[in-house]
Amino acid sequence: MTHDKDTANLMEKVVSLCKRRGFIFPGSEIYGGLANSWDYGPLGVELKNNIKQEWWKRFVHQRTDVVGIDSALVMNPKVWEASGHLSNFSDPLVECKKCHNRFRADQIEGKDCPDCGGELTKPQQFNLMFKTFIGPAEEEANVAFFRPETAQGMFVDFKNVLETTRRRLPFGIAQVGKSFRNEITPGNFIFRTREFEQMEIEYFIEAKDWEKYFDHWLGEMKQWLTDLGVAKEKLHFDDIPDGERAHYSKRTVDIEYDFPFGKKELYGLAYRTDFDLKNHMDKSGEDLRYTDPVSGEKFLPHVIEPTWGVDRSVLVALLEAYHEENIESGTPQEKALLKKQGKLPTTPAAKALASAKGEAETRVVLKFPKWLAPVKVAILPLSKKENLSAKAKEIYAMLAKDFVCEYDETQSIGKRYRRQDEIGTPYCVTVDFATLGEEGDEQKDTVTVRDRDTMTQERIALADLSEYLRKKLS
Ligand code: ATP
Repeated sequence: MTHDKDTANLMEKVVSLCKRRGFIFPGSEIYGGLANSWDYGPLGVELKNNIKQEWWKRFVHQRTDVVGIDSALVMNPKVWEASGHLSNFSDPLVECKKCHNRFRADQIEGKDCPDCGGELTKPQQFNLMFKTFIGPAEEEANVAFFRPETAQGMFVDFKNVLETTRRRLPFGIAQVGKSFRNEITPGNFIFRTREFEQMEIEYFIEAKDWEKYFDHWLGEMKQWLTDLGVAKEKLHFDDIPDGERAHYSKRTVDIEYDFPFGKKELYGLAYRTDFDLKNHMDKSGEDLRYTDPVSGEKFLPHVIEPTWGVDRSVLVALLEAYHEENIESGTPQEKALLKKQGKLPTTPAAKALASAKGEAETRVVLKFPKWLAPVKVAILPLSKKENLSAKAKEIYAMLAKDFVCEYDETQSIGKRYRRQDEIGTPYCVTVDFATLGEEGDEQKDTVTVRDRDTMTQERIALADLSEYLRKKLS
């Protein structure tokens, strides 16, 4: 099969597919939208949940040394004083004196406005915290902030988790949830938005062990990326040099990916020392030290922090999964089907015309790893005939207990296959007249199962169908 990864247009194609098929819509669209806000549609929410659920299973449920929490989005403002966010969480902002557009000074090349070439102001620090008020009075005393990261929840709850779970070092606290940053230049679809989701772990250790656990988490992050289906060549592990790291970090690795719009941060891994616990202990007056169960010594644990962006994971999963293939190199069954529908050009002239028009020749397919696919099985009656629908709905009811399924009886079967390819459904189950026994006893109670990647079809007995799909999808 021929593969076409036209990276110049890849972003546009993925954004358009997301809208067309219901993965991701522009936010508040009927009101003209809200710049850089996006809503996850029926397929997008499944894809995003698959990522979050797999992460939780892998890093919380399957490990004895990590527990989860879900802390409040709006916390006591003192949290952000202690963490340094109120004084330090800012980006350098420049404004064009001519067109008044604003930019992050560290993200533009050259000294002039990237939009109009006008002169830029000197950089000023702009705090990214999202401000709000608690209660009805909009007074200074009631100012609060939406969290800019999930991490501080884990530090603030450290003592409660320690006391209730009786963990010993090393152990981690994990959280998945929304964070808010008043970004100066959001953009590139869901890459940088003002409201986004993170998956983070604060892994508490003894200071002497930091290198060992840093390497451990780097390994875990690499394995995660492999399982997400990310090509190794597109990943970069950038060790941030001294002087460029946050002041509390002794080592930071930015995990970067070659996005169509450039090499950018996907995830991060940092050794945060005991910076956060120390500051919270100072500011809150609570003793946050850990007592060594053997020596009785009290000390503040150090922290390794692996952090994953959920939305950037979704974006990378979509970019990696997107493929265009030449249908002419499809299977004989596929070709026969297209021919039957009059879609496969047969004469050289018709072929040339179809290829010039780009018709019926390329199929778009999202080749997600199976665990990621938002819909696992599509159940498609060959036509809308009542007895076919009834049988297909019975099969849907049977399979939907075990797999996320979709039932579709609209349009031609060819169009429905195309749609399932475009949303990355690994298997299509087709119910035809043979299933009903109208073509003899041999094929009664059997269905066709079509494989997304090879487009081959197999005839499977209904009695074996669940087991067959379970094996294929595991
Ligand atoms: P950047 O340099 O891109 O602004 P950062 O270094 O500030 O990112 P962190 O504070 O390390 O990012 O946040 C951890 C992770 O959260 C990032 O690796 C990214 O996946 C995600 N993330 C951060 N900011 C945003 C955003 N505005 N939109 C979407 N995801 C984000």
